[in-house]
Amino acid sequence: MSNQPIYLDYNATTPVDERVLEAMLPYFTQKFGNAASIQHSFGWDAEEAVSTSRDQIASLLGVKGQNIVFTSSATEAINLAIQGTFDLSGKKNHIITCSTEHKAVLDTCEHLKSKGGEVSLLNVDTDGRISITDILDAIKESTLMVCVMSANNETGVLQDLQEVGNLCQEKGVHFLSDITQSAGKIATNLHDLNADFAALSSHKLYGPKGVGALYVRDMKLIAPQIFGGGHEKGLRSGTLNVPGIVGFGHACEVASDQMDAEGDRLAKLRDYIESELLQLGDLIVNGEKANRLPHVSNISFEDIDGSRLMRSLKGLAVSQGSACNSAVIEPSHVLKAMGLSDRLAYASLRISLGRYSTEEDVRKAVQTIRSVIEQQRMQLL
Ligand code: PLP
Repeated sequence: MSNQPIYLDYNATTPVDERVLEAMLPYFTQKFGNAASIQHSFGWDAEEAVSTSRDQIASLLGVKGQNIVFTSSATEAINLAIQGTFDLSGKKNHIITCSTEHKAVLDTCEHLKSKGGEVSLLNVDTDGRISITDILDAIKESTLMVCVMSANNETGVLQDLQEVGNLCQEKGVHFLSDITQSAGKIATNLHDLNADFAALSSHKLYGPKGVGALYVRDMKLIAPQIFGGGHEKGLRSGTLNVPGIVGFGHACEVASDQMDAEGDRLAKLRDYIESELLQLGDLIVNGEKANRLPHVSNISFEDIDGSRLMRSLKGLAVSQGSACNSAVIEPSHVLKAMGLSDRLAYASLRISLGRYSTEEDVRKAVQTIRSVIEQQRMQLL
């Protein structure tokens, strides 16, 4: 491990917690049954484990296990919610979302345009916040759904979901929230938020990759997108990934217990990073004035070449403020939507801390970033 870079990219993915792995292991070997095998105990055991996991996930989110549909990822959950609702929408074809959403939402909405959908892409302010008045103004007769994420994956900026949920309920439009980055990090009660759908992913909260979930308030609101054996109440056919699902559930239970203390600890480390780096001057902490997740910092540096910066930070596993689409590195659509120039968006770092981030790692990371920035700025003079 010691030769590996310091991992500061928990928003990209998290390692599986040892406790989660331990809970999963029996389901690869002795308890390998198919949760759909209703004739024998191998199947019953698997089904029981899946049901426990549903309850663990639901409990983290303040809802009931019966409203959780398992998928392979948050991306699939988002596709199921948006496309599945659209398929049953009748005359309503209008979706309202925001320019800083994850591509899973933006690209799915874009795809629906080819099927007769209309999409309103709302802007954010310079701190990445969406305005409730803009949503209200955009709602019209044909509006089917409002789709607003809880926490942005690049900046950690939180939207006021309560306001959005209340508005959607009042106006009778569906409300989907992508809670992939906030689930297990901050308290969430989907019932109180009036959410119709919420998508999340196991690998962002110390569970395994390849498992996601969609919370569905009313199963009649969506049509399936994958057909086959009628699993998951007919909404998502395909044999369930029982070990993965067990891990997901367990990860949610651990998160419920640790979330508050973990958030407090990471917020202190995040604040330390920001206060140290701010001393460099000529930088922007993106979303600084907004409510943010406690463990995320996104910083853009003036007078810095983004690609050179990344090349000099080989000892740190951080992510650039840019999205990597196949071979092309593009400036982040999130930072651009917040008003940053291409150049500044390139010269950005997303630091996302997590369960195994230590003070020592953070101190080393800060020293490295400070000296690289100072050096590169000196060379400009
Ligand atoms: N939504 C957000 C906000 C994300 O950060 C991600 C992953 O980075 C996704 C959706 C997609 O999640 P998954 O990897 O489970 O498809």
